[in-house]
Amino acid sequence: MKHIIREIIKLCLVVILGGVSFTISTDSLLARAPEVSAIRIGHTKDNTRFVLDINQNIKFNIFTLASPNRIVIDISEVEWKSNFGGAKGKGYIDRYRYGLFKPGTSRIVLDVKNPVIVSKAFVIAPKGKKPYRFVVDLKKVSKQAFENRVKKPVPRPAKRKVTTRPKKDLRSQRRKKLIVLDPGHGGHDPGNLGGKNYRGYPEKTVVLSAAQTIKRELEKTGRYQVIMTRNRDVFLKLRNRSRIAHNKQADLFISIHADAFKSPKVRGATVYTLSEKASDREAAAMAARENKSDIIAGMDLEEEIDIVQSILIDLVKRETMNLSSSFANELIPQLKRVVLLRTRPHRTAGLIVLKGLDVPSVLVELGYLTNSTDAKLLMQKETQQNIGKSIVRAADNFFNKTYVAN
Ligand SMILES: [Zn+2]
Repeated sequence: MKHIIREIIKLCLVVILGGVSFTISTDSLLARAPEVSAIRIGHTKDNTRFVLDINQNIKFNIFTLASPNRIVIDISEVEWKSNFGGAKGKGYIDRYRYGLFKPGTSRIVLDVKNPVIVSKAFVIAPKGKKPYRFVVDLKKVSKQAFENRVKKPVPRPAKRKVTTRPKKDLRSQRRKKLIVLDPGHGGHDPGNLGGKNYRGYPEKTVVLSAAQTIKRELEKTGRYQVIMTRNRDVFLKLRNRSRIAHNKQADLFISIHADAFKSPKVRGATVYTLSEKASDREAAAMAARENKSDIIAGMDLEEEIDIVQSILIDLVKRETMNLSSSFANELIPQLKRVVLLRTRPHRTAGLIVLKGLDVPSVLVELGYLTNSTDAKLLMQKETQQNIGKSIVRAADNFFNKTYVAN
C-alpha cells in the first residue's frame, strides 16, 4: 500500500512539474528577442571597450581570427534598433559589422588594427535608468600572444562524394520553371556600402528589396515559381546559396548584387558568369571582393576550398557553363532597355556563388551604390519592376529557344 501511495505521489509530482515546465516554455516562446538600443566604443590609454546597451541578458561566445585580424562575437539572437551597414571603430577597432548569423545567433565582427586580445567580457545588470550592458575589453598584445589565441581550423572528417544530380528528376515533373533568386550578402556582411548620401542603404538592403520585386514580376506571369535564398536580413554562406538551387533542381539561379567603386562617376549594370579566368582585372577584383563574404563572416575556409576544388574538377560541366552564358546573352539586351549597362556588360570571373553543380547561374551587379544616380534608381520600385520585367523576357527567351530540359 505504502508503495502504491509513493508511486501516486511521484506521478502527481511529474504531472505538476511537467505542467510547470510547460508554462515556462510557453512563456519563453512568447518572449521577444533582446533588443540592442546602442553600440558604444570607448578608448583609454591601453584599453578599447566595446559596449552594447541591451534590454535583456544575453549569452555570448568570443573567438579570434587572423589575416585579417578579427574578433568574432556570437551572442543570442537580438533585434538591432538601428541598422547601419558597416561602421567605423575607435581605438584598436578599425571597423565593425553586425547582424543575424543564423536563427538563434547574432554575430558582431570587429576588424582590429593591432594584435589584440579580449581581456574581459561580461554583462552588467541594469542599474537605475541604465539597461543591461554587454562589455568587451580589448588589450594590445604581442603578435605571438595574438596568434596563440587564434582559432585553429578543426580537421573535418572526409567528405561524402557529392552526386551531380539527385535521383528523382523534379525538373520534368514541374509545370512551372523554377528560378532561385539570391539577394547577395546579409546579416553582419552588408556587402558594398552606399556613397555619401546613401550610407543607410548597404547592398544587402537594396538587393533584398530588388529581389523581392523581381520575384513578384516573375510570379505574375504564372510561368515561374521563385525561391529566394534569403527573405530577410540574415547571413548565408556562399556555397549554401547555390546548394539551394541544386537541391531544388532549379532551372535557373540568379544572384543579385550591387557594386561599388572608388570613383563615384562609374555606373551601370554588369552580368557575370563563371570562369576560372577573370575576363579583366576589374572582374578579378570584383570576384575577390564578393568571395570574401565567407572570410568576413569568420568561417574557416578549409572545407570550402576543398569542396570548391572538387566541384571545379568533377562537377561544373561545360554544358552548365554554356547555358549560363546563353542566359547572360538573353539578359543583356533586355536589361539594356531598362538600365544603363557598363561597357562590355558580360564579364566572367571565379565567383564561388556561381560554382553550383548543374544549374545555369548568373550574377547580376545591378549598378553602383557609390554612384548617386544608380543608387537612387535602384531603390525606386519602378526601376526594380523594370528590371524584373527584363528578367522575365530574358527567361522567356532562354527557356523557349535555348534551353532543352534534361
Ligand atoms: Zn555583392
